[in-house]
Amino acid sequence: MTLDIRTMMVMLSALSLLFSGLLTLAGLYARNTHGVLHWAAGSLCIGLGLGFSYSHLGLDSAWVLSFGATLMAAGIGLQFNGIQAFKSGSCNRYIPLLLAGVVFIQSLWFAVFHPDIHSRAVANSLAFALGNAACARVLFIRISQPLRTAYWFTGASFAVVAAMFLARAVIVFLAPPDSYSLYSHTPINPATFFVGSMAQMCIAFGLVLMLNYRLAADLQKLASTDVLTGALNRRSLEQEATRLSARCNRTGDTLAVMMIDVDHFKSINDRYGHPIGDKVLQRLAALAQNTIRSDDYFARYGGEEFCILLPSTIEKDAWKLGDRLRQTYEAMVMEFGGESLRSTISIGVSDSIHVGVEFPSLIAAADKAMYRAKQEGRNRVVMSSTEFNSETICS
Ligand code: GH3
Ligand code: MG
Ligand code: MG
Repeated sequence: MTLDIRTMMVMLSALSLLFSGLLTLAGLYARNTHGVLHWAAGSLCIGLGLGFSYSHLGLDSAWVLSFGATLMAAGIGLQFNGIQAFKSGSCNRYIPLLLAGVVFIQSLWFAVFHPDIHSRAVANSLAFALGNAACARVLFIRISQPLRTAYWFTGASFAVVAAMFLARAVIVFLAPPDSYSLYSHTPINPATFFVGSMAQMCIAFGLVLMLNYRLAADLQKLASTDVLTGALNRRSLEQEATRLSARCNRTGDTLAVMMIDVDHFKSINDRYGHPIGDKVLQRLAALAQNTIRSDDYFARYGGEEFCILLPSTIEKDAWKLGDRLRQTYEAMVMEFGGESLRSTISIGVSDSIHVGVEFPSLIAAADKAMYRAKQEGRNRVVMSSTEFNSETICS
């Protein structure tokens, strides 16, 4: 099979420009997601860079060739920036400039001042390998599910390009002097462009896949959490409870439930206004999230009522956790723009040993215990199975 290098170069350039358009459209739609427009700009630079290198054929100018290589380096730098911004929301803007600067200087040096095609090909291939390897590295580290598959696919594509450029550098370096030029009949040229085209396509698909996964994960989060407090919403609470109940049925493990209600919350709203009431709920939610274990589930049950699912826990331990939360909340002085206020909560707890593993029974029992806490004077924790409350247990 003979692969014409010029045709492949035009194809790869056209593909990059096409991907740039595709990523721009995707980026315009996902305005809240950082990095996508960097990828589009990166693809544009790579496409234009290849186009310049191609036009070098006609113009035969070392400057044009250097400019083409510089644009490609800037493109790789922009893709790196895009990945950084996509992951963390910010990026180091100097990286594309730095990579482009290095490639421009070495291209110009080996093309104009000390013409040496070998050294230029080796130096630029190494710089491109480094840029792509850096992209692959960022995509491989610290990625959690469910985004991992898309990141790894894109990271592997960047790694292939990096390996290809490294191989190119080594092969050109070992080749006899004056045997290499961009359009000479050496297998490394068509191989580079073939692998480059395939990997460039995989990178573009991978980036779109990452965006797709991110949007799906954001939607999933929106559908499962409460916007005000960041706690799970009632729908996800019920889903988790059904899953945990089934597991407890299977394994015989215990499950405890805690219902929390803010005391006299209506009067907080009446006295300080609803926005402050909202902030009080946020503070309580943050405190509860910090108090529970990582495998507990904290949810907003409705209004100013919260529910915690505690796997592998019995009522008495849930009571202890609830009482710690109650005491910390009571001691917390909340400052809101000059106003300071304190508030209390009442808590009811139940467990699967006393009322069974079904969530409706657990929640009904915890709710009943919580109302008993209200009746007994509020600011206390009551277990559904006993007459104990925080005062009787402490004494
Ligand atoms: P109790 O001690 O008996 O629980 O008294 P309470 O005043 O807390 O009574 P209740 O639980 O019935 O009050 C619920 C109040 O919570 C009524 C409602 O206006 C308010 N509320 C519900 N959701 C929100 C919210 O998202 N933000 C704010 N600011 N208030 C809310
Ligand atoms: Mg209530
Ligand atoms: Mg209340």
